[in-house]
Amino acid sequence: MIFRPEILAIKDQRIKPFIDPGEIWDLIHHTHAPRERVRDVIAKSMDKQRLTLEETALLINAEDPELIAEIKERARQLKEKVYGQRIVLFAPLYIGNLCSNNCAYCGFKADNQKVKRVTLNREELIEQVKALEDAGQKRLILVYGEHPNYDARFIAETAQIVYSVKSGSGEIRRVNINAAPLDIDGFRIVKDANIGTYQIFQETYHEETYRKVHLGGIKRDYNWRLTALDRAQEAGIDDVGIGALFGLYDWRFDLLGLVRHTNHFEAVYQVGPHTISFPRIQYASQLQIDKSHLVSDDEFTRLVAILRLAVPYTGLILTAREPASVRNEILQFGVSQIDGGTNIEIGGYSKKGGGEAQDIDFEQFQINDNRSLDEIMVELIGHGYIPSFCTACYRLGRTGEHFMEFSVPGFIKRYCQPNALMTMAEYLEDYAPVETKEKGYCLIREKLVEMPEDKFKVLLIEKLQQIKVGKRDIYF
Ligand code: SAM
Ligand code: SF4
Repeated sequence: MIFRPEILAIKDQRIKPFIDPGEIWDLIHHTHAPRERVRDVIAKSMDKQRLTLEETALLINAEDPELIAEIKERARQLKEKVYGQRIVLFAPLYIGNLCSNNCAYCGFKADNQKVKRVTLNREELIEQVKALEDAGQKRLILVYGEHPNYDARFIAETAQIVYSVKSGSGEIRRVNINAAPLDIDGFRIVKDANIGTYQIFQETYHEETYRKVHLGGIKRDYNWRLTALDRAQEAGIDDVGIGALFGLYDWRFDLLGLVRHTNHFEAVYQVGPHTISFPRIQYASQLQIDKSHLVSDDEFTRLVAILRLAVPYTGLILTAREPASVRNEILQFGVSQIDGGTNIEIGGYSKKGGGEAQDIDFEQFQINDNRSLDEIMVELIGHGYIPSFCTACYRLGRTGEHFMEFSVPGFIKRYCQPNALMTMAEYLEDYAPVETKEKGYCLIREKLVEMPEDKFKVLLIEKLQQIKVGKRDIYF
């Protein structure tokens, strides 16, 4: 279902650039269709089929407010159909902000003299991980500047340290990475550290703009970055995350760039990216960008809804860059993962914990959702979402979990939702204040009532009972 031979275009080759700006602009300028055709395209994605570039361009060009509302509503329905009410939670952990590049939008750029440069040493890293575990986190993404000190061995070593830290019954069960592109050998070294997803954002797929905003360092090389996750695939990392930094260039172009990147992986490696991120530019120390492409809240909501319809089976990540109000709104339209209790100051988790105002001169950019993990849990539970810390598929070697969710009938109901409820129960037992615990168990009871009376429900009730008496890390 995911692998579609007709898109195995000759233009897609291993580790070869694949973006054709003429093709993308042509689609933006010339893809218009009557309302019925737009509805056909929406119906196709409701049938959980990925859209072509042209079909995505049709949705982008649907300007009629009634159609825009329909796109959002259908994205909301598709999200429920595919993912149920689960939202996966994680936290970013900044390891170091040394950087040899000069990205115009980033506070860590080499030329920024104001930022204090720090790299966590082993003890400091352990302290951060303990603080995160004590808050209830189970999934982290480690973030690094791009610098010779942060080579593949360093990245692998930091990931291993994180996995080794245990605090009480706390442990980190999945370590994802957001770091510079590596060569194939480098990706092999990092793979051996048992990482989850390797994330690299292209920032903008528009090469000319890319060169304008990357003023120095290796990151100036557009194609080295564009083909980075191909090299990861060649090294055996099939779990990769792509992204674009919205606000650098026309959002329509970068949205199609993300879909094109997805096609490329499917054509060459028969598997799409695990996740797509779509950060919007936030205030940063020494920010130097042309503001003409900044994306409004309305455009942002629309682009997330279109992306959901375009790639029904790909995880979408929305981070604490966005304020709580925007996050709450956009969550409905297709987001499957969010961070909670985020603190991006290096060393910040043990100093202040998550969820507090931060000092911009020590950070990459400003985040706008400073809620603690517990506040986020309460908000999610209150809206009927099931917060999940599940890592079962990845640990059981069930890679391509999104593929499973689609291809194995009933997979979500039998595996994903029960696992989400169990990881939530662990949080409620180990870390939640009394009120959160009450609200959380109330949601668990509601979800159990909704489940059919079968052996899976009996098993789940048994396992939830085991969690209550202290058993941990159990999953289907
Ligand atoms: N240094 C590595 C790199 O550039 O890929 C890894 C991490 S960088 C710290 C993570 C991402 O943060 C970047 O890829 C970029 O998309 C995003 N970012 C940088 N500056 C930002 C800003 N001012 N607002 C929002 N996101 C930003
Ligand atoms: Fe360095 Fe990454 Fe920031 Fe660019 S985005 S200046 S590479 S940390």
